Amino acid sequence: MNTVTLIPGDGIGPEIMEAAVRVIEATGVKIEWERHVAGLAAIDQYKEPLPAHVIESIQRNSVALKGPLTTPVGIGFRSVNVALRKEFDLYVNLRPAKSFEGVASNWKNIDLVVVRENTEEFYAGIEHYIDPAKSAAETIGIVTRAGSERILRYAFEFARKHKRKSVTIVHKANILKYTGGLFLDVGKKMAAEYPEIATNDRIIDNMSMQLVMNPHQFDVIVTTNLFGDILSDLCSGLVGGLGLAPGANIGYKVAMFEAVHGSAPDIAGKNIANPGALILASAMLLRHIGEESAAGKIEAAVAKVVKEGKHVTRDLNPTSTVGTMEMAEAIIRSL
Ligand code: NAD
Repeated sequence: MNTVTLIPGDGIGPEIMEAAVRVIEATGVKIEWERHVAGLAAIDQYKEPLPAHVIESIQRNSVALKGPLTTPVGIGFRSVNVALRKEFDLYVNLRPAKSFEGVASNWKNIDLVVVRENTEEFYAGIEHYIDPAKSAAETIGIVTRAGSERILRYAFEFARKHKRKSVTIVHKANILKYTGGLFLDVGKKMAAEYPEIATNDRIIDNMSMQLVMNPHQFDVIVTTNLFGDILSDLCSGLVGGLGLAPGANIGYKVAMFEAVHGSAPDIAGKNIANPGALILASAMLLRHIGEESAAGKIEAAVAKVVKEGKHVTRDLNPTSTVGTMEMAEAIIRSL
């Protein structure tokens, strides 16, 4: 039996996690869950946001399913999400954005994959005020050749394995000549090893506009940390919002699966959060541990329920009164 570390998260986390676990268990795949709290809940209980026993559990199991964790803005503790990615060197953030029939959105048949570098650049945590008066602040973004090579390698290998037609390298090398320039240079050289994949590059501002105007021209998108964070939310917007956007954080040993969205404090505790993104992330987890058939069943069941549009939360159908758990139950019935 597989043992997986489970972090429910906060805000809408516990509700959508309960829904996701029920769906996984309904597939018949046997998983032993090691439940641990992190973030705000861990501060209440253990006085620190990421206690050592949580890290040990993930280290031992190599796989984690994580609900969203709130990060205080400006003040307070640093992001536990970022800390976990750094702790386990989860250098790949894989965020697929796929259209579902039945979801109101400006585009149909979108099938994009954002491969975001997850450990470097502006998320490295090298930032400070320059003086006690806070008259200026600086954040240093470090991009390394090794860091660029491994994320670009992952993107090209992903494209090859999944027979994707193109890889677009996104950067701002016209202004960030060194960090952006290094990333682009590594990518262009590596592209020569993948002649069957059409490789191109775009400057981030142009890329954002083109994704909104004509997303079908793109396929796999690989980029540095901050741009990847923003573009993956943009891509979920193309397919109808954050409610159905899953993500995986992958390293050499550990993989952690979660929704792209955050803890949504505005709707927490109301049983109206869409559990779809975390359920789709659970399917990614199952595929990762070799449960391909159960993963496929979950994805098909989500697609069926969303297409029918009756048992979906109100973000997908504004007239709906269906709650988080009812949507999960409809997915279970469709498995
Ligand atoms: P958010 O993703 O939590 O919410 C953005 C908007 O989308 C809100 O209107 C919210 O109600 C809606 N939304 C999000 N998930 C939804 C769902 N499942 N169903 C229906 N509607 C949903 O972004 P935010 O408000 O900017 O961030 C809230 C907190 O989450 C912050 O502390 C942020 O740092 C944190 N966060 C955590 C993660 C993570 O754990 N990986 C990711 C992003 C943000």
